[in-house]
Amino acid sequence: DDPLDPHAHVGDLAAESALRPPSLAEFKGQPRVAEQLELVLTAAQRRGRVPDHVLLSGPPGLGKTTLAMIIANEIGVPLRISSGPAIQHAGDLAAILSGLSEGEVFFLDEIHRMSRPAEEMLYLAMEDFRVDIIVGKGPGATEIPLEIPPFTLVGATTRAGLLPGPLRDRFGFTGQLDYYETDALVGIVERSASLLGIAIDRTSATVIASRSRGTPRIANRLLRRVRDYALVRRNGRIDPAVASEALTLYEVDELGLDRLDRAVLEAVCTRFGGGPVGLSTLAMSVGEETETVEEVAEPFLIRQGFLMRTPRGRVATPRAWQHLGLSAPRVEGT
Ligand code: ADP
Repeated sequence: DDPLDPHAHVGDLAAESALRPPSLAEFKGQPRVAEQLELVLTAAQRRGRVPDHVLLSGPPGLGKTTLAMIIANEIGVPLRISSGPAIQHAGDLAAILSGLSEGEVFFLDEIHRMSRPAEEMLYLAMEDFRVDIIVGKGPGATEIPLEIPPFTLVGATTRAGLLPGPLRDRFGFTGQLDYYETDALVGIVERSASLLGIAIDRTSATVIASRSRGTPRIANRLLRRVRDYALVRRNGRIDPAVASEALTLYEVDELGLDRLDRAVLEAVCTRFGGGPVGLSTLAMSVGEETETVEEVAEPFLIRQGFLMRTPRGRVATPRAWQHLGLSAPRVEGT
């Protein structure tokens, strides 16, 4: 993994968990989802039932895992974590489900990447708290129903649309996480700084927040990189100029676009004449997985008004050309 890649997952895991807010009260931003979730949890507790299954969708780093942990914390139950790609066989899922304790929260990350048979087993488990275990092979195989204790599934996906309808329908609540407002990110940077023992003023925190692609994971990572820069290149003190220099060094521009974001925009503009260009062609030309371009770069670029999705492919907006310092080709008739 590229240690400077703001999307990189590994390496920062220990640092990440130390910064996770433990309760809804400390979870900043996403006011709508937080309030809705609070209602779901409180109502379940009053009724003395396990909360409905919860689906969380949104780009990476917006707080899906954090919310799953918060749900378990708030209702005071253990949390079990797995992910779609880790569940290759229905048997893997059966083993997890039958090992759950009553009321436990089961967090299933990247739920859209589960195998088909596992998915079917999950339907039944979500609805009837039961799994059918297949014993034996061939014509002699039999299904043995196995009851499992009531549990709450928290599924996470980058896009709810990737889930098959029947699976989506079995969630009682869907929270769609959106990119964070800068204000909320400033709060997150300040909270993280204080947990990490980093002194930072409001303006410097705002410099970091506004260049974090609306994403808490990136805000926390950039905060650490700014700290490093201040330590090594300056006297350790962070001020807005130091923050801004550090971010430039790490190839994060004033609008928060990182290397991948810019590579995508540059490809659309310079190699494909502004588009339309198909997603997989685009991904190939920047040397990335189609999924990464679609789930990480594209939502942000669309949200910021740099890219448009059309039936014929991705198209750069005038703002994209402007941001890259290029002049858009003249469109006939204008
Ligand atoms: P996801 O599961 O959506 O990829 P995570 O829950 O792992 O994202 O969040 C990534 C990091 O961002 C975590 O370390 C967490 O500390 C931080 N984070 C996410 N959301 C918030 C929030 N609302 N307030 C404070 N920190 C947050």
